[in-house]
Amino acid sequence: MNAIVIGGGFYGCMVALHLHEKGIPVSIIEASDNLLSRASYVNQARVHNGYHYPRSFNTAYRSRFNSPRFIREFKPAVVDNFTHLYAIVRARSKVTAKQFTTFAHNIEAKIKPARKLHQEWFNPRLIESVFEVEEFAFDATILKEILLERLGEDKIPIHYNEKVLRFTEGKVITDKNEYPATLVFNCTYSALEDIAGTAPLKLKHEITEIALVKVPPLLSQIGITVMDGPFFSVMPFPAESLHSFTHVRYTPHASWKSGERATPYGQLDEYQRQSRFPFMVRDAARFMPMLKDSEYQHSHFEVKTVMQTNEVDDGRPILFQQQPGQSVYSILGSKIDNIYDVLERIDAVLVNA
Ligand SMILES: Cc1cc2nc3c(=O)[nH]c(=O)nc-3n(C[C@H](O)[C@H](O)[C@H](O)COP(=O)(O)OP(=O)(O)OC[C@H]3O[C@@H](n4cnc5c(N)ncnc54)[C@H](O)[C@@H]3O)c2cc1C
Repeated sequence: MNAIVIGGGFYGCMVALHLHEKGIPVSIIEASDNLLSRASYVNQARVHNGYHYPRSFNTAYRSRFNSPRFIREFKPAVVDNFTHLYAIVRARSKVTAKQFTTFAHNIEAKIKPARKLHQEWFNPRLIESVFEVEEFAFDATILKEILLERLGEDKIPIHYNEKVLRFTEGKVITDKNEYPATLVFNCTYSALEDIAGTAPLKLKHEITEIALVKVPPLLSQIGITVMDGPFFSVMPFPAESLHSFTHVRYTPHASWKSGERATPYGQLDEYQRQSRFPFMVRDAARFMPMLKDSEYQHSHFEVKTVMQTNEVDDGRPILFQQQPGQSVYSILGSKIDNIYDVLERIDAVLVNA
């Protein structure tokens, strides 16, 4: 038995390491010249601890359950030297402060009223309550270094600059080679359905913008998440020693469903990347006036992909789908720390293989 993992993002690397640990010869095929260069780098860098999903208990609970393990396993990549504030908006929020507190208690996540000094940074007319929570960030560059080292130690071959075009039973075909494979794991996130032979997965794609800023000095050790609706987050982005600035209304620039447009990477390549940071900061400063002094640096754009079924509850379960009649599995990562749910599913596959 041997396995091929398609895609060298965080999920693909972790899947390959897990298969190796289980004694399965495995190699990774990666279309670019680098690991963790796509969604695994361009994201909010939040090690989710559940708070972000008060409307999807399952997603919140899985993050709450998985994050301690991620933090233990990737300690050097985890940044915990900041205070994370969650603020609940008075009008148009889908949760009240009371509901949010109850929810945090239900998932056994730490929560307490923010210090007076921090509360005073927010506009009391618009913000009902501010809480201090325990939720960290990760440094994607360090994460990549850790994974590269482990892959090297395990001598797992990585075929860079090779794009998988299709698979047929027992074979993976790239633009350069053909590889025999008993098991195939497609970990290409937004590009999952681009590989010919993949059964439709009912995905929703969004072109998203992560603006990177220098926040005012008082906020340098602070993360802010304003909930739950068309609001914003300002989080440390450790890989560039900046803060990411995202806004539920302005971060998604365009969206489409599976089959409505051609390849997501192609859509992104063609997209005119005009930053919406001015809109983001103007709205955010209504809730937290100090943010108006954030200095814009640059933006990253990436395609964000979720399952269509989660549009209503904002949930982010993993997708782990077997290709009918084949030993080929499509994996859509959800949150970085939900990788452990994927590894469990792989163990179940191996038991029956
Ligand atoms: C805007 C945004 C914000 C997010 N915020 C967070 C957050 O704060 N916290 C969190 O935990 N999660 C967050 N996520 C989700 C998280 O980033 C993803 O779930 C995770 O990075 C997916 O990892 P992956 O390895 O599956 O995909 P990727 O990192 O995208 O890796 C896929 C890899 O497949 C390769 N590939 C594609 N097609 C082919 C092909 N045909 N042949 C060979 N290789 C191919 C690509 O080059 C790429 O390297 C966010 C995502 C986005 C987009």
